[in-house]
Amino acid sequence: MIPRARHLLAVCLLGAALTACGAAGGERPAPAASRVSAPPSPARPPVLAPGPGGLTPVFEHGPRTRGKTVALTFDADMTADEGPRAASGEHFDNPGLIDALRTLKVPATVFMTGRWADEYPAEAAALGHDPQFEVANHSWSHYAFTADCYGLPTVDADGMRADVQRAYESLRAAGVPHAMPYFRFPGGCYDQRALRALSGLGVTAVQWDVVSGDAFATDADAVVKQVLDGVKPGSVVVMHCTRSAAPTTERVVRTVVPELRERGYRFVKVSELIGQAGNGR
Ligand SMILES: [Zn+2]
Repeated sequence: MIPRARHLLAVCLLGAALTACGAAGGERPAPAASRVSAPPSPARPPVLAPGPGGLTPVFEHGPRTRGKTVALTFDADMTADEGPRAASGEHFDNPGLIDALRTLKVPATVFMTGRWADEYPAEAAALGHDPQFEVANHSWSHYAFTADCYGLPTVDADGMRADVQRAYESLRAAGVPHAMPYFRFPGGCYDQRALRALSGLGVTAVQWDVVSGDAFATDADAVVKQVLDGVKPGSVVVMHCTRSAAPTTERVVRTVVPELRERGYRFVKVSELIGQAGNGR
C-alpha cells in the first residue's frame, strides 16, 4: 500500500500535468446557450448522511453483497500553477480515453478540478452534458487539504470551502449543468480538520478502494493486472485522464473493461454505489 500511496502522491504532485478527461473534440455549443440540450436534472443525487457534528461523510466503496458492480473514476487534474505548461503545448486532457469509454459504453465519474474546467471548457461541457458521465468536484486548485500530501502546496483551513466552491463555479461557467455533490480530495489526503472545514456544503467525500497505478505508468499490462487483482464487488477504482501523466490509461481501459465484463461485472457511476450504500438519501 505504501508504494502505491507514494505512486499516487507522485501522480498528484505532477498533477498539473494530470488533466481531466477531455471529451472528444469539444465542439459542443457554449454552455449558457445549451440549456435545451442539457440532460434532465436528475432527482437529487444520493449522498451519505453527515457524520457526528455535521462532519463531511467519506465514501470508499459500495456494498460487497449487492452484486458485481464497479465504478471507474477518472481524476482530471490540473493545478493552479500549470497554466504555462498547458500554454506551451502539454496535454492535460485525454480525448482518446473518453472516446474509448463512449465506444465501450462504460458509465464513469470524472472528478474535475476547476482549473481544468477553466482550461478545457468545451470538453468539460461535453462531459457535463453526456448522461453516460457524471462530473464531480476535485477542488479548484488541486492543492492539498492536509499539511503533508505528496509535496503539494496546501490550502489553508480558511480557504478550503472557498476552493471547493470556486471549483463548482468553474464547472458551471464551463457548462457543466449538474455537477455532483461529490468531492475528491487532491491526493486523497484528508483529516478531521478538512472534513470539518467542508461540513455544511452537502458534499460526500469520495475516496477509492482500488488504486490503478496508472499515474506515470509506462507498462499498461502492470496497471491492468493491478486493477483486475484489486476489483471486488462495489469497488471504486481511481484512474487518471491525461495524456501527459497517465499515457497508458486508454489502453488499460480497453483491456480491463471487456475482462471485467467477462467476469460478470457491471460498470456504474459513483452515485449508484452511494445510492446502494444504504444510508444514501
Ligand atoms: Zn488529483
